Amino acid sequence: MPATAKLYETDPYVQTFTATVLVCTPAGEQFAVQLDRTAFYPEGGGQPCDTGALGTALVTDVQEHGGVITHTVSAALPVGQTVEGRIDWARRRDHMEQHTGEHILSGTLHRLFGAENVGFHIGSPAVRMDMSVPLTAGQLAEAEAQANAVIRADAPVRCWYPAPEDLAKLTYRSKKEIDGAVRLVDAGGADLCACCGTHVSTTGQVGAIKILSAQSYKGGTRLAVVCGERAHQSIAAAWQDAAAVGTLLSSAPGRLLPAVQNLQTAEAALKQRLAAMQNALSEALAQAAVPGQLAVLHCDGADGDGLRRICLTVSARTNALTAVLASGGQGLAYALCLPGGDVRPVCKALNEAFGGRGGGKPGFCQGSLACTDFADVQNFLVNYHE
Ligand SMILES: [Zn+2]
Repeated sequence: MPATAKLYETDPYVQTFTATVLVCTPAGEQFAVQLDRTAFYPEGGGQPCDTGALGTALVTDVQEHGGVITHTVSAALPVGQTVEGRIDWARRRDHMEQHTGEHILSGTLHRLFGAENVGFHIGSPAVRMDMSVPLTAGQLAEAEAQANAVIRADAPVRCWYPAPEDLAKLTYRSKKEIDGAVRLVDAGGADLCACCGTHVSTTGQVGAIKILSAQSYKGGTRLAVVCGERAHQSIAAAWQDAAAVGTLLSSAPGRLLPAVQNLQTAEAALKQRLAAMQNALSEALAQAAVPGQLAVLHCDGADGDGLRRICLTVSARTNALTAVLASGGQGLAYALCLPGGDVRPVCKALNEAFGGRGGGKPGFCQGSLACTDFADVQNFLVNYHE
């Protein structure tokens, strides 16, 4: 089988083409088709394959083995006939923007910080880039700014197969040893790299590069990056989000941080006031409690810590079984206490009677019940206690 002529290598902007069907064999419920030439890019080098149509058949997968490109299509095609191919151009154009942007950013990170790109995949919604060294937020911001300057310079992106003697004189990035001819891409002077993928013809067509996130990964840094139309969409979504948060906080994008800090300060003050009021409540309830008698108290508004505190304070005064309940979620939260005793049996009985969950130590248990009726729980505890 002769190698398939790769139209996407000489002109990555070919969207429709004609070719001769050389092979068509059944492959499960679909068909494997080989052509004399194709503009369909096969999966490889971190770039997903193209999709589209050959005649009226849909192309769902494209793979290359030994220079021969196989298209997985939805219907049989007549061998020896000419067929028209149509690339899903929106998908391919997106891949070209992401791929070229990745070169510009990888080359920039390599030049600035000696970082090697050791992993690359055009995923969804972001492009994944694994860099070989740790990178700080400041370094990434600098590289992002310089990469976007390369885009604004709108320099040519060139792909070619250098003669072996010329290749030997060049210094270029390469992720792995390459068998056969090496294809180089020069991304506007920002990167020189061995690559089989498709790229836009000038850096300006990348539009923009935005690093969305960075995390430590295998001693280096894993980046999530978006380029081109994806960068526009992600920035638009982030601004829409920020504007909505700004409306809630009576603030605006760019001034959200102090507004959130004010909110956190106010929340911390409220928590302090709640804790102080729960302390005062626990003292008051303990004063009102009768020593030696079961106490079942309803304290809506108390949080988990408050329930515990009230239960311990009251039971220390009564020296008897004490239950404190508060409405919360879909039911009632509870705390049970008996100084020197074991509340685990009553806790278990309560959970079984009211679809609850929780437990604890012999003297103290805490949990929640799938029941909203305080009186039902109170009656159950009174009967249990008798
Ligand atoms: Zn490339």
